Amino acid sequence: MNKKKLIIILSILISTIVLSQDFFEKYNFPRNGIIEHNNLVNKNFDVLHYRLNAYLPMEDSSFFGDMDIKILITQQSDSIKLNALGLVFTSLKVNDTDATFHLYPSSETFTIILPRTYTANETINTKISYYRDVSTLNLSYNRKGYYWFRKNLDSKIEENIGYTMSEPYDARLWMPCFDDPSDKATCEINITVPSGYQAGSNGLLIDVIQNPDHTVTFKWKEDLPITTYLMVISASKYSIFKQYYRRVSNPADSIEIINYIWQVDSAGPTWNAVQAFSKVPWMMEIFSTIFGEYPFVKYGHAVAYPFYYGGMEHQTLTTVHRGWLSVNAYPFYDDYIAHELAHQWWGDLVTCHTFKDIWLNEGFATYSEMLWREKAFGIQSRNELLTRYTRFNDYSWQFAIYDPESQGVYLFTSNVYQKAGWVLHMLRNLVGDSLFFNILMNYRNLHAYATATTEDFIDVVNFTTQSDYRWFFNQWIYGKGWLKIAYETSYDENTKNFVLSIAQVQDNSWPTYKTPIDIKFYFPDKDTVVTIWDSLRVQNFVFSFLTQPDSIKIDPDNKVLKQIISQPVLVQNDGIQNFYLYQNYPNPFNSITEIKFDLISDSYVKLKVYDLLGNEVQTLLNEYKVAGTYNIKFNAENLPSGVYYYRLLTFPKNSKKLPVELKDNSVQIRKMILIK
Ligand SMILES: [Zn+2]
Repeated sequence: MNKKKLIIILSILISTIVLSQDFFEKYNFPRNGIIEHNNLVNKNFDVLHYRLNAYLPMEDSSFFGDMDIKILITQQSDSIKLNALGLVFTSLKVNDTDATFHLYPSSETFTIILPRTYTANETINTKISYYRDVSTLNLSYNRKGYYWFRKNLDSKIEENIGYTMSEPYDARLWMPCFDDPSDKATCEINITVPSGYQAGSNGLLIDVIQNPDHTVTFKWKEDLPITTYLMVISASKYSIFKQYYRRVSNPADSIEIINYIWQVDSAGPTWNAVQAFSKVPWMMEIFSTIFGEYPFVKYGHAVAYPFYYGGMEHQTLTTVHRGWLSVNAYPFYDDYIAHELAHQWWGDLVTCHTFKDIWLNEGFATYSEMLWREKAFGIQSRNELLTRYTRFNDYSWQFAIYDPESQGVYLFTSNVYQKAGWVLHMLRNLVGDSLFFNILMNYRNLHAYATATTEDFIDVVNFTTQSDYRWFFNQWIYGKGWLKIAYETSYDENTKNFVLSIAQVQDNSWPTYKTPIDIKFYFPDKDTVVTIWDSLRVQNFVFSFLTQPDSIKIDPDNKVLKQIISQPVLVQNDGIQNFYLYQNYPNPFNSITEIKFDLISDSYVKLKVYDLLGNEVQTLLNEYKVAGTYNIKFNAENLPSGVYYYRLLTFPKNSKKLPVELKDNSVQIRKMILIK
């Protein structure tokens, strides 16, 4: 899709009602294919601090920078490799001395030849002057790093706007850096723009300097560790709308929420930032209560348009699409605004160590939407979202949550958002609320201002619960797909046994899931819930009841991510019949099974197999048979896995009528499950 087309589509979206449930954060605007990102490994240094002076003329897309990088050498080195793409270096100094460098655009890196060999624990200061020139690069519309748009009221662009958007690997398109989520440093970002412009960034605004050349410099400082993809610049002729959050840990201390919006969006009939952000202090209070105090010195939003994404959780300054301010969108985007805020804990405070672990950001932020709803509006509201986020028809869901790109899947899909959110909900149901929230707190405390891998999170779960939950992550995070079940019930009046037979019918390449499942039994006078542990491809659970339950419900409170493929059908055994049809054996079966029936008198017999939709699949018998017991083989070699029915119809031999299917009591139907 080209940029122009997208802008038009976005304009339509924005000028009508922006309510699409998929108009969300990053995953709805995938990049063109999977990126080759040439991550650096085995580095011999650690970045301590970035100081960027950025000059944005704002009349075109130019971007000039002076970058100081303070680097700690961790292993003896005579060169250093960093990331840059589309940057033209005009000078590069190491400790104030000109140094040799080589740019490698194809690997998006550059190498600095150090003036001498440095040993571990020495620090070096690298100073790079550069400007951006991406004209020769064939970048996709949404891989620019720095985006600039001219004011165009027809396209609803209120003012010239320039902003950065870097996740996952695009910070290198606007600043030289070690562009990997595993590396955190502190930063100062000083942005010089023409007078009249505002420029927001990470951390605290330290100073605003009016320069003699009719420019203004905004000096921002983030003293808390930050990784490159979370650094941001947002500049336009914004007006500022402030809110305050009183810290739950110390109500005397409040922190500013600084929102960069266009004046017309403030509280108008179409756009209403005051309304859209009205619940943010409340959200901060709720999240601070359950995740521990808000971990940074300020918060805020910068509104962007055009913006090819929905929202981006830049540390202390979230970028949001202008559509989120639409009065028609309110209050439906509360969930998304909560999602971005929750990233300040899950993503920014504790950052995924690699993008293979992206679910630690997105799954957590998505589950936080549900926690926000639960604490603010109650369980029913949370469950509504949980149901909406159950997306079995989403292509990405068949893959494992861990490491999407190695499976050939785009990094940001509903798999690492909604499905991973579901996994956290299941973990909570498994360990109980008290342990679950302790897990979150321990995870925060252990990895705050640093990074974490999936394995780190599993360690925290096991440590907190003093149990081994690796099996849970093996199936839900490292394993593909989800649980699909078919079930069947029967009740024996003589033994009073009620048998529930559950088959896990998901693909064989998906895990066999081990999970507790609640079963609710409905009786005329009372209901009862029993929790079973399902752990096999086919498993029978026997319950003893004095009377037959009217019906049952699998997982009545929707605690398990499961898809019920088929509902049970009552076996028709009533009436006077001249035959008895048995359950096939084996069942479930792989390709071949036997269907047995007793024929009491000589009859014309029809035995047919149907699929779930009632289509006839195969005729096994269509002939006269003498009384006796029969075992009929059914070969399903050419049929797909699934639920099938077999149906026996008999017609007494002495009848003169044609063997048509007239009477219920001459027909029996049973179900069987084919698993390949
Ligand atoms: Zn997110």
